[in-house]
Amino acid sequence: MALTLSDILAARQRIRGLADATPFVPSPHLGERAGQEVLLKLENMQPIGAFKLRGALNAVAALPEDARGVTCCSTGNHGRGVAFAARARGLRAVVCMSALVPEAKVEGIRRLGAEVRIHGRSQDEAQAESRRLCREEGLTEISPFDDPHVIAGQGTIGLEMLEARPDLDMILVPLSGGGLAAGIALAAKAIRPQIRVIGISMDRGAAMHASIRAGHPVEVEEVASLADSLGGGIGLDNRLSFPLCRDLLDDTVLVSEEEIYHAMQRLYYEDRIVAEGACVVGIAALVAGRLPAPRGPVATVITGRNLDMGVFTRIVTGQDVALGDHIVKGRAYEP
Ligand SMILES: *Cc1c(COP(=O)(O)O)cnc(C)c1O
Repeated sequence: MALTLSDILAARQRIRGLADATPFVPSPHLGERAGQEVLLKLENMQPIGAFKLRGALNAVAALPEDARGVTCCSTGNHGRGVAFAARARGLRAVVCMSALVPEAKVEGIRRLGAEVRIHGRSQDEAQAESRRLCREEGLTEISPFDDPHVIAGQGTIGLEMLEARPDLDMILVPLSGGGLAAGIALAAKAIRPQIRVIGISMDRGAAMHASIRAGHPVEVEEVASLADSLGGGIGLDNRLSFPLCRDLLDDTVLVSEEEIYHAMQRLYYEDRIVAEGACVVGIAALVAGRLPAPRGPVATVITGRNLDMGVFTRIVTGQDVALGDHIVKGRAYEP
């Protein structure tokens, strides 16, 4: 299936009033640093606290009239989006997860009205249960990124940004499975072909970056990161988000955990925004000077706010944060 701007325009109609029109605000101190205006698209303001609601609503809306329900394996923002979207349409949602998932995450998904199915002790075993529900109970599995309706839903962010600011020169997109970057790049480049769209990931376990470099989907070792929403693979059988990111992104850039730590402090102290590590990779790349020089306004997406407040408090107070065997050394915020 070839995705086009018209799929994103159709998605916009389906999500209207539920997940659209988030604020798009200037960040004066970042603008000063970049020498160009910098704008933040505040997807942390979504009802589930992250942009994933857009794709999930569009995918659920596209199901046939007689659909029996939906399933997915994400314990993070995609799981929340699917739960919310299914409830909005009065459909059953089952989120499969392994016994290792923390209780807080299980509760968060349940509170949004989804059934939680605990199965096995790994993501693979949870995945097997989700597949079984599709076969035996007629549910439909929704991929967090490799699904045309999900990509088109995330693409509505690109539409909104370009409509508000047709003069954008560059968009910095946090990059994991690539549904967000593919959708935004598709929308933005259809409207303004000369725009540059850059995908940004953490340097520990960046699956899409490694896959684009290799020319095909590859697996990377998954390690703990402050940008935990950017972890995980892209699927060795990836059909859509890999080719779209490969063809549409102008570049992919990596940032370190230390740079993410500092960018979280910056967004908090300068813009007064509480956001996940995944959201600030664009800001981190900008401040660390890893991007081409902007020739006009730059935008980045603040993708979500669902983070561990204990870790966040350590970061804004300048304390060390342990990520498995990697310690991110604390330091007080300095502009
Ligand atoms: C899912 C997610 C991303 C990355 O989106 P992909 O489509 O997987 O590339 C970025 N930030 C947050 C907060 C997310 O939940």
